[in-house]
Amino acid sequence: SIRTRFAPSPTGYLHVGGARTALFNWLYARKHGGSFVLRVEDTDEERNTDEARQAIFDGMSWLGLDWDEGPQANGQTTGEFGPYFQSQRKALYDKWFEKLQADDRVYEDDGAWRFRFERKPVTMQDLICGEVTIDYTNVDNTPDMVIRRSDGSYVFHFVNVVDDLEMKISHVIRGEDHLMNTPKHLQLFEAFGVEPPQYGHIPLILNSDGSKMSKRDTGAAVGSYNEDGYLPEAVFNFLSLLGWSPKDESEVMTVAEIIERFSLEAIVRSPAKFDVEKCAWINQQHLMQLSPDAFASDAAPFVEKAGFTLPENYSQIAASVQEKVRLLTEVPSAIAFFLDPAYAYDTDALNKVRNNEAAAGLLGQLADSLGSLDDWTEAKACIGATAKANGAKPGQLMFPTRIALSGQGGGPDLGDILNILGKEESIRRIQRTVQ
Ligand code: GLU
Repeated sequence: SIRTRFAPSPTGYLHVGGARTALFNWLYARKHGGSFVLRVEDTDEERNTDEARQAIFDGMSWLGLDWDEGPQANGQTTGEFGPYFQSQRKALYDKWFEKLQADDRVYEDDGAWRFRFERKPVTMQDLICGEVTIDYTNVDNTPDMVIRRSDGSYVFHFVNVVDDLEMKISHVIRGEDHLMNTPKHLQLFEAFGVEPPQYGHIPLILNSDGSKMSKRDTGAAVGSYNEDGYLPEAVFNFLSLLGWSPKDESEVMTVAEIIERFSLEAIVRSPAKFDVEKCAWINQQHLMQLSPDAFASDAAPFVEKAGFTLPENYSQIAASVQEKVRLLTEVPSAIAFFLDPAYAYDTDALNKVRNNEAAAGLLGQLADSLGSLDDWTEAKACIGATAKANGAKPGQLMFPTRIALSGQGGGPDLGDILNILGKEESIRRIQRTVQ
């Protein structure tokens, strides 16, 4: 059966590179009805933090990357191969170390223990990179590696392999930065007498300018996407495209569609470009697919955080900008003019209206015509009719009306604005503008 795992070291926040690795492993397991394991590689006591551990749990949960085995957020553990923290697995490591000792595959060197490499070329068939060979023939170039330190702790290569075999991992999908480690890992598997998993190394993630992405770059921390106004399904979608694309080249996909299309064969070898603009675009596409109510409730915390109290018709207000924003953080400023009776004007636009006698006159006429309307659904049509009646083109009154009602030149559909503001408030705003 297919068993994949994500094996993060809790030494910093969860970054997009790690999340993308988790995501590919998750996708592969979900696609094939396998199991996805979370194993915490916390052997480096000095660099591990509780915050980092929590950030991994939170980031994965936010993205919807649920794991079948591993430590769960409620403090419980699921799965029969635990514990899933390396810091709690010393007895197992000792057991496998003793096997190497018994087989004379290790020797002591100043209190530390080195693993005797077999002096031969090691070839692997990487699921993504193809055939990779490392030649261990030359003794001087490849010294035997230390696997156990003099303080009794074990190095990454050793514990990583022991855990993958103990946890019966079938596929290891990990960053290309580990490619050169894999032949070492294969030698350990051979020494243990256990069939190794299949390995696939996924390409690095580079910034748009080609530089290597670092933890300080914008968008590097998975934890920041929520407060930056992204939907988890959009970030999931975006991360899935870092190094992979479906045959039909679709870009905007639901999680189910990604699972359906995903394959390791379609992962490319060339580095993936990290482009926050693209992430925002994908987010916009996902925002548009939400129901108006879902959009409104996703945006609500951002609107409240900006200091607004949600009015009764908030959902309707939010829906009017659903197709206008890329990020949920843009919603408060996009709807501010609805919520604030003393909304500010775009000064240039306002001057254009106030300094244009014809426009100002038309607005005055419009206020009168709107005032005598019985059926408010006719309000938008009334703009054109008023213009016409005064020998002007509808367009000559549309822009001034928009400025009057919203203070700005762009924004929601004029009909929506009139509808939301209602008769009294619309007329007040027009009068406020021409005063
Ligand atoms: N703890 C290692 C890392 O975060 C795991 C590598 C692996 O997936 O095998 O790089």
